[in-house]
Amino acid sequence: MSLSRLLLLLCLGVTLVAIGCHRAPASHTDQKLIILGIDGMDPDLLKQFMAEGKMPNFSALAGKGSFRRLTTSIPPQSPVAWSNLITGMNAGGHGIFDFIHRDPKTLQPYFSTSQVEPPKHGIHLGSWVIPIGSGKAEQLRHGKAFWEVLDEHGIPNSVFRIPANFPPIKASGRTLSGMGTPDLRGSYGTFSFYTDDPMKSAGAVEGGQIIPVQVQDSQVKADLIGPDNSFREGSPASILPFTVSIDPLEPVANIEVQDQQFVLREGEWSDWVHVDFELLPFLGNVSGICRFYLKQAHPRFELYVSPMNIDPADPALPISTPKSYSRELTDEVGEFYTQGISEDTKALSAAVLDDKEYLEQARTVLAEHRRIFDAEFPKFHKGLFFFYFSSLDLNSHMFWRLMDPKHPEYDANLAAQYGSSIEDFYRQIDQVLGEVLPKVDDHTTLLVLSDHGFAPYNRSFNLNTWLLNNDYIALKPGAADTDEAFANVDWSRTRAYGLGLNGLYLNLRGRERAGIVEPGAQADALLAEIKAKLLAVRDPKNNAIAITRIDRATDVYQGPYAKTGPDLLIGYNRGYRAGWRTILGNFPADVFEDNTNPWSGDHCMDYTLVPGVLLSNQPIAAQAPALTDIAPTIFAEFGIPQPDGMMGHSVFSSGQTQH
Ligand SMILES: [Zn+2]
Repeated sequence: MSLSRLLLLLCLGVTLVAIGCHRAPASHTDQKLIILGIDGMDPDLLKQFMAEGKMPNFSALAGKGSFRRLTTSIPPQSPVAWSNLITGMNAGGHGIFDFIHRDPKTLQPYFSTSQVEPPKHGIHLGSWVIPIGSGKAEQLRHGKAFWEVLDEHGIPNSVFRIPANFPPIKASGRTLSGMGTPDLRGSYGTFSFYTDDPMKSAGAVEGGQIIPVQVQDSQVKADLIGPDNSFREGSPASILPFTVSIDPLEPVANIEVQDQQFVLREGEWSDWVHVDFELLPFLGNVSGICRFYLKQAHPRFELYVSPMNIDPADPALPISTPKSYSRELTDEVGEFYTQGISEDTKALSAAVLDDKEYLEQARTVLAEHRRIFDAEFPKFHKGLFFFYFSSLDLNSHMFWRLMDPKHPEYDANLAAQYGSSIEDFYRQIDQVLGEVLPKVDDHTTLLVLSDHGFAPYNRSFNLNTWLLNNDYIALKPGAADTDEAFANVDWSRTRAYGLGLNGLYLNLRGRERAGIVEPGAQADALLAEIKAKLLAVRDPKNNAIAITRIDRATDVYQGPYAKTGPDLLIGYNRGYRAGWRTILGNFPADVFEDNTNPWSGDHCMDYTLVPGVLLSNQPIAAQAPALTDIAPTIFAEFGIPQPDGMMGHSVFSSGQTQH
């Protein structure tokens, strides 16, 4: 190392152990491990921002320690990727293959990582149903999590907001659930938008609901929508009335809900507002928190209300270990978004929030995460500390179009205002690293990693439409495209179907409800045929190859669940992704479409095109480390023998790695 570089590091306040020499021998009880999990941090963007001097702390870490690309999961979707990290196994071992799975018997899609079930039985009294027993939330990820193994060996640990851990598994340390945590309605986030604008059509939009209201005598009376009330016959949504009084002259409104009232100016967000939904008179209340945003007072009334979040001070469903921890955290840092994907990307996609408004909301999310980090990191003294940040992922999804002039949704005016948004979030993550580096001493290993990288999403490929056009799917006569999954599919003549972002399934006899493809030679031949045809597909717009890689599940998955997922994993070319509606089993007219959604960057592609990053203060020996190596790395750091079934190796030892 040059002297000038050493001085530079000292000036930055960075304490790092010397690379090249052997690491200070520490007994495993002294050993500390810090992992920053940065969803969606892309190696090329990181390199660019480092070269431009915008990421001084990452530059210091990469310069002094190591920086590698980190092989992501197949497919490269966050729930799959983080589950690889959590368990040290691929999807065959943990059973998470996609955001969306299907029940082969009903062919209905469902979220892959958890399910929330109301009580199964109840006594009917008039319009009330008194439940017997209680409902439950169930985590669907299999395999032992790395912190369970640490607990077994008495290594202290805390794991904040790691995806695919809702409801949180039993743990000795503090954990807080992250991506996969629902809102109070059981969805991944459903906003409400109240307006008297007749141009806005009422009803459900993806991730939200447009609710028509009337302004009478400068007042709006409407209802907040809460969880389905399983105490009522038919389980209608519970509601809570609120009143908005609009100032006739000023762009200001007074909002009254339960015993609270507050004033919002146009363009202003409320703090978190506590509300209680009464499910049974005097008995069953469910507490929620939400934020109001007065988008417009005059001439049209427009009020956005965030998804109703589980109240961390009084959680209706478990979101932390110990259970009391989320309340204690609230006492320390105030309320915060508890829904797993907190950035309201759906409100931007639905044009309910514009770029500026969405950005304010997304910045609030990161500010909350940083508040939690700032409260917890100083308490870390031994064992393992893991903290997850979502901002780079969600905001790269939403703002790629304003960073990339080649994107179909690029807008020069908007780019002038918001083109640096992704960079701004990267800089904030660099600031977080700047808080960590001074605490990295001789007994501390630091890993900064992402689950996958990023790429533009310019063009959609509608896999189910392609399968239909190529006679692998048959529809019933006269059937039209509907929003219901596979509503008009004639399964007696259908051989394969697409579901989720990267999955293709055969309609297999003995597995699917009305399977017609024989397992074995017939299935193998069909998969080979479809694979060859898909790899040859060219985009008529520019003659580009749409799909660069297809993996067979039997080639890439090991473990007890290897046969429960898709049969083929479709790896789209950079710039391509499965279209919005094909994912859920629908059939848009065209195979290819421009992606006009503000959701303009993505990573659900050929996994070799979107690697993540791995940085460490220690020399990384592995030339091609993978997510499945991280759990083995954690165990090696604490001298714990690697549990059976884990496939990787510590990245600090040189060994061959499977993905
Ligand atoms: Zn993502």
